[in-house]
Amino acid sequence: MSETILWKHLNELGQIGRETDGSITRFPFTHEDFLAEKKIWQYMEEAALQVFRDAAGNLIGKWEGSAPDEPPVLCGSHYDTVRNGGMFDGTLGLLAGIEAVRLLRQEGFQPRRTILIVGFKDEEGNRFGFGMIGSKSICGMVSAKDLSAKDQNGISLSDAMIQSGLYPEKLKTCILSPIHCMLELHIEQGKVLEENGCSIGIVSGIAGLIRYTITICGTSGHSGATPMHGRKDPVVLMSQWIMHVTKLAASHKNCVATIGSIHTFPGECNIICDHVTFTLDLRSTDEPYLYTVLNEMKQFETENNMTVHYQLEQKLPAALCDENLCQKAEDICKKNHFPFIPCVSGAGHDAMNFRNHCPIGMVFVPSRNGYSHRKEEYTSPEDCQKGMLVLKELLKLESC
Ligand SMILES: [Zn+2]
Repeated sequence: MSETILWKHLNELGQIGRETDGSITRFPFTHEDFLAEKKIWQYMEEAALQVFRDAAGNLIGKWEGSAPDEPPVLCGSHYDTVRNGGMFDGTLGLLAGIEAVRLLRQEGFQPRRTILIVGFKDEEGNRFGFGMIGSKSICGMVSAKDLSAKDQNGISLSDAMIQSGLYPEKLKTCILSPIHCMLELHIEQGKVLEENGCSIGIVSGIAGLIRYTITICGTSGHSGATPMHGRKDPVVLMSQWIMHVTKLAASHKNCVATIGSIHTFPGECNIICDHVTFTLDLRSTDEPYLYTVLNEMKQFETENNMTVHYQLEQKLPAALCDENLCQKAEDICKKNHFPFIPCVSGAGHDAMNFRNHCPIGMVFVPSRNGYSHRKEEYTSPEDCQKGMLVLKELLKLESC
């Protein structure tokens, strides 16, 4: 297979924010973000899209349909990365949308509904502690409290936006409504497709998520002078807590629990800690089960006499994809002899914010070894192209 335009664009964009170890760090409202925006703007123009940036910094390429008053078809993904991430997460879905438009034009297709290819701002949320700022802005879900969130250097989201020439006070102008449907292609970030030898995953739903910062309190003391008996060491309590929550998650067919960050206080080798804080990221497409887990944890804490404080950081309900769009994606795969499989998404995606606004269609392509959010993230050029072609056919069906 000769190098496709999609592959070329993926590699070019993948140079922006590239670290010496080969990973990519492209945080929102930074110089790298600005450079990426410029590049994407160029690709959109090359596909003859009319490009503009909304008040939140979403990059939008518009192909006006012959019935411009009809609700538009949205298609896109994000172009920021986690710290030390890879070059496919998000970026593939956006660049594939642009490439799909270019090919549709080449075929002489003229959409009836307007097509909007969207590069969503800040999906990953590594900078301000919560993500999907762009897609939430389009769905009218960003609050004043969100805008006051600060990064590590004390810069608020609002100030970061202003410094990038954006308009946090005008976020309401980002809202798009009504929308005909929202389509997103994304890498799987898991191993199901690879293990089943499939090029396409047809996503039936995106898992709901609850994220907390949790504090467990104990009793501080001298590490040498305090006997083991009678200690209330919060690190030990935390270990028991983590074992229990991960066991509960593992006992369900579709639930995952992750403790990604732990801090001990005061954090010295010769002091029994006073308290510990850590993050809990709990997900399932079976949303009620998330609450079952939390209730069981409360019971576990009472039984074990633990003092535990929960600070809610983020809560995202599960989002189901549209059955009709799933069926269409399946038909496209069959027609093109692309091996496919139905799947669910454990990871959150921009598309989920549209759950109360319009039908959602989501397609996955394989991630080698399931790797994502690391530099080894890889999807073959053939699979990227197949994903793009499914997206192209969906765009055609939905916009005509
Ligand atoms: Zn992503």
